Amino acid sequence: MATVSSVQPETLRTLPSDAARQIQWGFADRYDLQLLVQSTRAIARGPVARLVASGGRNSHEWTPEKALLLEAFDGAGITAVFVEPEEGGLFGGPKNLALALVAFELAWVDGGAATASLAGCLALAPIHERGTPEQQRRYMKLAAPGQPGEDRKPWRGAFCLTEPIPYVGVDTGMLNGKVRIVEWKPGQEPVLQVEKRGRFITNIGFANFITAAVDSDDERIKGSCIVILEEGDSGVFDRGTPTKKMVHQLSSTGDPIFNLRIPASRIVGGYEVKEGVIIPRYNHSEVIEAVFRRTRVTVGVMTAAKLLSSVEPIIRYQRTRFRGAETATPGSVRFELGLQAREDALHRLVDVWATGEASASLAFAAARVFDELDPLEKEMEKLYAERGVTGGKAKMKLLREASDQAVKLIELPARDARKVALHSDLLVRFAALDSLADVLCPAAKLWNTGWGAQMMREAVSLMGGYGITEDCPGFLGNKWMDAQLEATYEGPEAVQRRQLSVTMTNPVFLAQFRGWIGEMRGIAAEYPGTGGCALATAMTMWYWTLHHLQRSKDADGSKLYQSARQGVTFPLADALCWLVAARSQILDVLRLRQQGAADASLAEGLAGLVKFMTDLCHVQSSRASGEVDRICTELVFGYNRHPSWDEAGARSCWHQDELDEIEGLIPGFNAYAFDVVQSDGSHPQKAGPCVKCDEAQPFFMLRTKLALCHTGSRLAKDRAAEAISKIMIPEALDYPA
Ligand SMILES: Cc1cc2nc3c(=O)[nH]c(=O)nc-3n(C[C@H](O)[C@H](O)[C@H](O)COP(=O)(O)OP(=O)(O)OC[C@H]3O[C@@H](n4cnc5c(N)ncnc54)[C@H](O)[C@@H]3O)c2cc1C
Repeated sequence: MATVSSVQPETLRTLPSDAARQIQWGFADRYDLQLLVQSTRAIARGPVARLVASGGRNSHEWTPEKALLLEAFDGAGITAVFVEPEEGGLFGGPKNLALALVAFELAWVDGGAATASLAGCLALAPIHERGTPEQQRRYMKLAAPGQPGEDRKPWRGAFCLTEPIPYVGVDTGMLNGKVRIVEWKPGQEPVLQVEKRGRFITNIGFANFITAAVDSDDERIKGSCIVILEEGDSGVFDRGTPTKKMVHQLSSTGDPIFNLRIPASRIVGGYEVKEGVIIPRYNHSEVIEAVFRRTRVTVGVMTAAKLLSSVEPIIRYQRTRFRGAETATPGSVRFELGLQAREDALHRLVDVWATGEASASLAFAAARVFDELDPLEKEMEKLYAERGVTGGKAKMKLLREASDQAVKLIELPARDARKVALHSDLLVRFAALDSLADVLCPAAKLWNTGWGAQMMREAVSLMGGYGITEDCPGFLGNKWMDAQLEATYEGPEAVQRRQLSVTMTNPVFLAQFRGWIGEMRGIAAEYPGTGGCALATAMTMWYWTLHHLQRSKDADGSKLYQSARQGVTFPLADALCWLVAARSQILDVLRLRQQGAADASLAEGLAGLVKFMTDLCHVQSSRASGEVDRICTELVFGYNRHPSWDEAGARSCWHQDELDEIEGLIPGFNAYAFDVVQSDGSHPQKAGPCVKCDEAQPFFMLRTKLALCHTGSRLAKDRAAEAISKIMIPEALDYPA
C-alpha cells in the first residue's frame, strides 16, 4: 500500500557525516572499513596535503619527500589492504570496497597519492587474479608491510602494459614486448629472455617487481602472457626517464626498459608443456581483463571524491567572497551570503554536488558488486572442477544455459516462489551478477571520470581566478587536470564505451534493466521527490532506442547497431551511464532514509539531510533523463536522410490544386496542410518537406512523457540551492592549502 512521505520540512544542517556516508555507500556494518577510512584520511589530510601544499607536485622526479608517503601508507595499513591476513594483510575476504574507500580518501586530497597506492595493487592484481598459489604466496607476502620487529621493507610493484608508440595503448593486442627461451635443459625449468619497453608506467621509480605483458618470440612458446620481473634479475632493469606529466605528480611515472632473464615459473598463472611447447595457462588479455574489471572501479571513485571534496571550499569561498569590503557589513546579505546571494552560483554548485553524489554512488555500487562476485567466482571454479568442465567452450555453454535461466527467473513476478533460485542457484546468481558487474565497472570508469572531468571544470570555475591558482583551497585546479588522467589511464573512454556496447546488450543485464524501470516507479510512488519516475521513463526510452537501433539500418542500408559503428554504440553507452549513475544515487539515498533513523548520531539532522539528498537525486535524474532524450533522439532520427524538394519529396507533399478540391468539400482544410507545393512547382523555403516517421510513434510518445516528467525538477534545484545557502560548514578546511 502506498504511503505519503513523512519527511519533515527540515533543511540540511551540515555536510553529510561519516555515519551518513557509511549507510549510503554500504559499509555501516563494517567497522574494519570505518577504521581504514579514518586512518587513510589522516594520511591524506596530513602528510599528503602538506606535501602538495609545499609544492611537492612541482617536480616530475621521484623525490625522498614523495617516497615518505609510501611509508606513511604502510604505517596506516593502506599497503596491507590488498593482501590476505595470512600474508600480512589487514582483513580477509573481498577487497574491492576497501580499496575504493582508500582511493576515495586519498583522492579527496590528491589523485597522484591515490594512484601511487593503487598502482601497487594493480601490479599485484594479475598475480592475485590469475597467479599460481606459489606466485600468490611469494609476492603477496613480499608486498605486505613488515610485521612489528621485522626488519623488512615491503616490495612495491608496477604494472607494465603500455608500450612506446606505435605499440600497446588503447589497443592492448599490439604487443611488442617479447619473450623467448634461452635455455631449456632436460628435466629443468626453461629460462626465458624478456624484452619489454614500457611507456607511462606508474610506480616505476621505485618498483621492486613488475608484471609485464609480452608476446612470444619463440615457436616453443604459445601466444602471449604476463610475466613477473624482479629488480634483481640478471640483465637490464632500466627505470627510464620520468614522464613530464602535468598531473598526478605525487606518483612516479616513466618509460622503463627491461631485458632480463627469468625462470619460466614467472609466467603468471603457470604453464604446461605440450610437445615441447610452453603453453601459458592464461594469455595476457585474459589476465588484464580479470584485472581491469576490478581496478577501473577505483579509478572512477577517485574523480567522484574530487567533486565531493570541492563542495566545502566552494561554499566557503562563495560565502566569504565580499567580507572585508566597506559595503559588506555583518548582517548584510553581501556579508552573510556573498556569492550565494546569486542563483546561478548556487545552482551550479548544486550540479557539481549532484554529480559527485551520483558518481560516488555508482562507483561504490560497482565495488560492492565485485565484493559479492569475488567469492562466487571462486565457487564457480570449484563447480567447474566438480563437473569436469574444462576449456572455454564448455564453460561458455554452461554459462549460456545459466543466463537463459537467469533471464526467465528475473522476469518472473516479484512474489513468484521460483525467483528464490536467483539467489540460491550458484550458476544463475553468477550469471546475473557477472552481467551487472560487466556494465557497472565500465560505466563507473567512463561516466565518473569523463563527465567528472567536465564537472571539475565547473567546480574550478566557481572559485573564479582563485580556482586556477596553486593557492586554491582543496587544490581544485590540480584535481581538474588530474581528472583527465583518470579518464585516460587503465583504458580511456573509448575502451569503456567499446566494452559497454557489448555488455549492455547481454540479455541477462537487459532483463535486470527492465526490472529497474518498475523499481524506479515503485520508489517514486512511495517517495515522489526522487526523480525516479523521470528516470524510469528515460530508461524506457533508452531501451526502446536500443531495440530500434538493433533492428534498423541507416539511409544507405547499413546496419546501425554493430561494433564498427561507434557513432551509434558509443553514445548509447554514454546514455546508459547517466541512467545507472542516477539510479545508484537514488538507491543510496533510499538506504539512508531507511537505515538512518536507526543511527542515533544521525537522528537529529536526518530529515533535512534526506530531503536535500532527495532533491539532488531529482536534479540529477532530470539531467540524466535530458541527456538520454538528447542522445536517443539524435540516434533514432539522425541516420535517416532528410527528404528534399525532389520528385520523391514532392510526392509526400500536398499540392495546391488537390487542396483546393478538398477545400470545396471540407471548408477550412487548407489551414491544416503544410509543405504545400504550388502549381508552378514552388514550395516553402526550407531544407525539404518535413520528415514523417511513423514507426517512431512510440518514441514520440515517450519524448512527450519525458518532457512532462521534468516537472518539479527545477523546484528541487531551487530547494537544494537554498539549503546550500544555509548549511553550516567548519571555519576552515581540515587540510592545508
Ligand atoms: C600518468 C600515466 C600513468 C600511466 N600508468 C600506466 C601504468 O602503470 N601501466 C600501463 O601499462 N600504462 C599506464 N599508462 C598508460 C595509459 O593506460 C594509456 O596512456 C592509455 O591506455 C591510452 O593509451 P594511449 O596513450 O596509447 O592512447 P591511444 O591509444 O593513442 O589513444 C588516443 C585516443 O584515441 C582513441 N582511440 C584509440 N583507439 C581507439 C579505438 N579503437 N576506438 C576509438 N577510439 C580509439 C582513444 O580513446 C584516445 O582518445 C599511464 C598513462 C599515464 C599518462
